[in-house]
Amino acid sequence: KRVIFKTEPKERAPTQDDFEVVNVPFDLASVGNDAGNVVTQNTFLSLDPYMRGRMRQEAKSYIPPFKLGEPFNGYAIGTVIKSSNPAFAVGDTVKGFLSWETYSVVPNPDLIQLKVFTPTPGIPLSHYISVLGMPGFTAYGGLIILAQPKAGETLFVSAASGAVGQVVGQYGKKLGLRVVGSAGSDDKVAFLKNELGFDEAFNYKKPPGGSIKAALQQACPKGIDINFENVGGETYDAALSLMNPQGRIPVCGWISGYNSSNAFPPPEKFEADRVKHNLSVLRFFIQVEFAKGDTPKEHREKTEAWILDGSLKVKDDVREGLDNAAAYFCGMLKGENFGKATIKV
Ligand code: NDP
Repeated sequence: KRVIFKTEPKERAPTQDDFEVVNVPFDLASVGNDAGNVVTQNTFLSLDPYMRGRMRQEAKSYIPPFKLGEPFNGYAIGTVIKSSNPAFAVGDTVKGFLSWETYSVVPNPDLIQLKVFTPTPGIPLSHYISVLGMPGFTAYGGLIILAQPKAGETLFVSAASGAVGQVVGQYGKKLGLRVVGSAGSDDKVAFLKNELGFDEAFNYKKPPGGSIKAALQQACPKGIDINFENVGGETYDAALSLMNPQGRIPVCGWISGYNSSNAFPPPEKFEADRVKHNLSVLRFFIQVEFAKGDTPKEHREKTEAWILDGSLKVKDDVREGLDNAAAYFCGMLKGENFGKATIKV
């Protein structure tokens, strides 16, 4: 079974009709026999906002667009079920850019960054594409390395109950920050305050005080030192007006703009904001800038220890079945996920 990318949504929100689920014959004995090949059975798929950008056929990006008529692909976990490659053995757990399909025949594992990994006992496998995968690593690199937080500072994070935001907020608490979050429902706000220990949180769709700026003013009496920007638009403008001098804005994402071909404002705007407010405003790409050196190892070791000692909570919103993957992906872009959007194949 495969999920095929059928039509480009251009300047609108994608819908399930932009995809098609197809069944194709699969005979394990006749595939994956050439040297170097690996065959995987895919278990968990990561549904991520950046994939909306890859649907854009004209986009200039660090990652090429999805091809129309071919399966979607993204970060995923699988199990090796056949190998003609000495680096992989049957039964190995692997992670990489796998297609949205039940089984993948991988002629060149390096091309899709397919790697064997050993999950740590006691940690659910799905966590390796959420808090221990790209989104958690984004929180680590963007907050800890880029923003250089100091205890006592105020951190604001938007899309705070999502894959990246929930981890940013909890790292912030560990570093002694005052942590404020925004999210799109009362349930999400209650989760941030009651389960994750955020100091303050509000529903940006009905903000206390009548505007996002008024809500932020109430929640951040000493101003904002770090705005971990996930959504952009009105949220960015409101936080910008409350930034303290020498504040940092790691511009992680701008999801409010992703259905437009000009998703992000131009770099000149961030530069003007930086100068006017005496800040650092930095757009970053986690896999381009941080996925080298010791940072990935450091992220995994510290984060696993915090999960195992119970001091870091993880909410993966796992739904079942490739048939549901496309609708869930479109829903995630509108906030239908509560936690890391994941499909269990
Ligand atoms: P999430 O799990 O947070 O899911 C996306 C969430 O965005 C939705 O659940 C919804 O939550 C929120 N949202 C959607 N539309 C809007 C809107 N118009 N205004 C405000 N919020 C909205 O996704 P991730 O944690 O994976 O990603 C968060 C951000 O980080 C994205 O912008 C993504 O592109 C970016 N990112 C950047 C990376 C980098 O390298 N720079 C790497 C990874 C992610 P709600 O119900 O709260 O509205």
